[in-house]
Amino acid sequence: MIVAEQKQIDEIKGYLAGHRRVLVLGCGTCVTVCLAGGEREVATLASVLRLGGGLACVPAPGVRDSGEGKLETLENTIERQCDAEFFDPIRRQAESCDAILSLACGVGVQLAARLFPNKPVYPALNTKFMGTNEAGGKWQENCLACGDCKLGVFGGVCPVTRCSKSLSNGPCGGSEEGMCEVDPERIECGWQLIYDRLKALGKLETLLAAAPPRDWSKTHSGGPRRLSREDVVQG
Ligand code: SF4
Ligand code: SF4
Repeated sequence: MIVAEQKQIDEIKGYLAGHRRVLVLGCGTCVTVCLAGGEREVATLASVLRLGGGLACVPAPGVRDSGEGKLETLENTIERQCDAEFFDPIRRQAESCDAILSLACGVGVQLAARLFPNKPVYPALNTKFMGTNEAGGKWQENCLACGDCKLGVFGGVCPVTRCSKSLSNGPCGGSEEGMCEVDPERIECGWQLIYDRLKALGKLETLLAAAPPRDWSKTHSGGPRRLSREDVVQG
């Protein structure tokens, strides 16, 4: 899943300064699971914004200022903000606001901005990575979407993500007691993990042959990627 965390409240308030009526919009998928942008977080953030006050609200053009300087928040959470059809039921609500505060990952925020071209859409989260939930409140990055998955070669451990230097032919020689030299307190050596896994599978001979250079043009280094499936393309 995509893992994200909420931005500092001051940054969010900075975006909303000058707005009067804001739709706080959650996403019911990854960010709900990682406790950053689901229904519960929408309700909490909306009330913090309302009660915390301190926002410099200005009246919208043609609207008389009540003088209260209060921010009005509307709340909603849709199933997925990365899929346009899920915005249909909240379109009128969104149009009635002068800004959208999205608690989706960066993909959802960008789609919301595209669907509402005349409305400011602000991110409430920092999108961190694709990963797994390891324990309560702990997540681990394990895929960088390199576009050419080699997990089948490396025993199901990703050298691109789990090795700090993304080495295809490791280890680099800097690991100690299974920990990476980049941060021995925190990061396991990805190549130790690959070695241990291949050993457990009885496939250590895999490491005798050098892995071919990775084609980085298939990663984001080749520019924003697109995928077109001819078998499902419509129209
Ligand atoms: S090899 Fe590429 S696609 Fe496979 S897990 Fe690693 S980064 Fe993701
Ligand atoms: S110590 Fe291990 S994980 Fe760290 S950079 Fe070297 S091979 Fe990669």
